Amino acid sequence: MIDFKPFYSSRSTVYNLPGFDPGKVDKAYLQNLGVNVEPSEDTLCALAAGSEVFRRRFSENLLIPRQRYRLEELDPAAVSPEIHNYTGRCPTLTYEINPVRGCTVGCQYCLVSDGVHEQELVAFDNYHLYVRRLLDEQNGPGSANQRHYYYFSPKTEAFQEATLYTGIAHRILLEFIDHFKRCPGSQARLFIASKAGARHLECKYQGLSVLDLFEQLKGRMQFNTSVSIMPDAFRDILEPYAAPLDERLAAVKLCRGAGIPADSALVQPIITPWLTPEHISGFFSALHEAGIVNYKPEFLTACVENIAMLGQYLGWFDKNLERQLYEDYLMPSNETHRKQRGRIAPDKERSRGYLKAMMDCTDRLGMSVSICYWVRKQLNISEDIIPLINRNGFQCLGYQSKLFGSDV
Ligand code: SF4
Repeated sequence: MIDFKPFYSSRSTVYNLPGFDPGKVDKAYLQNLGVNVEPSEDTLCALAAGSEVFRRRFSENLLIPRQRYRLEELDPAAVSPEIHNYTGRCPTLTYEINPVRGCTVGCQYCLVSDGVHEQELVAFDNYHLYVRRLLDEQNGPGSANQRHYYYFSPKTEAFQEATLYTGIAHRILLEFIDHFKRCPGSQARLFIASKAGARHLECKYQGLSVLDLFEQLKGRMQFNTSVSIMPDAFRDILEPYAAPLDERLAAVKLCRGAGIPADSALVQPIITPWLTPEHISGFFSALHEAGIVNYKPEFLTACVENIAMLGQYLGWFDKNLERQLYEDYLMPSNETHRKQRGRIAPDKERSRGYLKAMMDCTDRLGMSVSICYWVRKQLNISEDIIPLINRNGFQCLGYQSKLFGSDV
């Protein structure tokens, strides 16, 4: 195992929050808190089970990932390409680029690991050889050369220490650069969604920074920052090794300064109780100031077990917010409002209200919105309200449809 120093050290850890001691979220706990919805027996069982797991991980120091990785080689010919299409309705066939197994950013709500970070991270040193093969097969000479996005990375953070210190991220970008040199008419496009801060993009390997490599991919890539709406101190707990918000926006500005499209944000997760008019306005004004013109909102989704943990973290910050969180998610009528792997989303009516509150603000700022098919369907959002491809060219996750028409 190789230990490393994180680019952005955790500003607070879950283990040293003054006075914090995980308890059991049960009926009595919810009543004491003043929660005015009555969860079903199944939900209460899941909350109790989640509380128990949380207590164990807390006492065994297993809540956030150790900052280390192991290097492995893979057989590029044996990797099965993964297609990114959770909803079955994604607009363009998108291939996943996942050069590590695990993630040392350690988000407690992680959509991929459901917040479990006990496993060690494995980084595939020669992953770029698989990328070369995939690009050749799909968009190389003699291939069908259809429009494809290559999504770096849906199952991990693309620019984390294990991919940066080792040059794995740089080598993947070099494969794309080499591919476009060999195949100037390639219809491959690189879609990056990342929590990277400025320091990550400035990280050099063999004299070249990530940003230097982005510059060589101009017209063929987009960089979408991923940012959450929540109190800063809560973000430090929930995203222990991610760049702070202002550093992520600094990364956006670096890209934009270098002529890289970086004007769409994945806004996720959205912690609904935090969505007061002041917080909405402060958050989106900061995005607007960084040059963001589009965003894809995504409310927190979590299995009920995990809500017992996230609620208690929020309660350490503010008990009233914790109460509201349970009220947004745990009413029996909301039990079937679940995304993949049983992750529950906030009550639909409340979600529509929160979405409207955000859009009222972002309309005034001139920002557009894109959403995925699942959310559109669940919340019954018509194309009049949010078009499939909006006026800025964005759709779904924030894919920039104009990228395929670019004159490169
Ligand atoms: S950065 Fe993404 S993949 Fe990594 S822990 Fe956070 S949510 Fe999960």
